[in-house]
Amino acid sequence: MLELDGLTVEYGDLTAVDDVSLAVGEGELCCLLGPSGSGKSTVLRAISGFETPAAGRIRIDGVDVTDAPPNERDCSLVFQDWALFPRQTASENVAFGLRMNGVGTAERETRAREMLELVEMEGHGDAYPDQLSGGQKQRVALARSLAVDPDLLLLDEPLSNLDRRLRETMQLELNEIHDRVGTTMLYVTHDQDEAFTLGDRLGVMESGRLVQHDTPEAVYDDPADRFVESFLGTTN
Ligand code: ATP
Ligand code: MG
Repeated sequence: MLELDGLTVEYGDLTAVDDVSLAVGEGELCCLLGPSGSGKSTVLRAISGFETPAAGRIRIDGVDVTDAPPNERDCSLVFQDWALFPRQTASENVAFGLRMNGVGTAERETRAREMLELVEMEGHGDAYPDQLSGGQKQRVALARSLAVDPDLLLLDEPLSNLDRRLRETMQLELNEIHDRVGTTMLYVTHDQDEAFTLGDRLGVMESGRLVQHDTPEAVYDDPADRFVESFLGTTN
């Protein structure tokens, strides 16, 4: 599970993340929602260790990682473009993190096969990224981030580059994959439909602050303030 306690991140005079406290339970998928510039990506970068908080603590599965270097935090961060290594096959891409962790060849191959099966890409292990469609590439990248079995998966608008139909398909797939692997996930999106489809809980951010954190039903039925109400009413 993930616990943020008073997380604050500053860029010079700007408080990009302002005293955010949030707990994401074991196996829960929490969607972090909010307009552009509200601090969503900064929260993910701080959790991954790419930003140093001005204040607050970060715990992953009970371990305080606030001062730990990125590679000592049991989490994977997935970006919008899901960049795969172009000269490596799908299998090699999936096995990449395992190789970094010193896992042997035979075990890497088995694990890569299992992960490709999980995302329904069995049979595509020998394909190179440019031989795959956008959605297929994203499935391979998801398999790659899950292969190392992280305690926490952080996703930053992973579907926003896809067209609407593919995005909806991938949302369903992500939901199924989440049900199967049960990894704790914090999923950033500015698309409220996506947040409502995917999230067990939603966190709504405004100007660096977490203004509401609740189930989708509660956020929908009882928005915390005018901002949440109008944000839900006006964005697409
Ligand atoms: P988007 O939906 O557009 O991705 P976001 O909610 O992810 O937005 P962040 O990228 O976290 O927003 O940015 C939060 C605030 O911090 C913004 O005002 C942004 O301009 C600022 N910011 C982000 N990164 C930096 C940086 N490296 N240096 C200075 N300011 C930054
Ligand atoms: Mg962002």
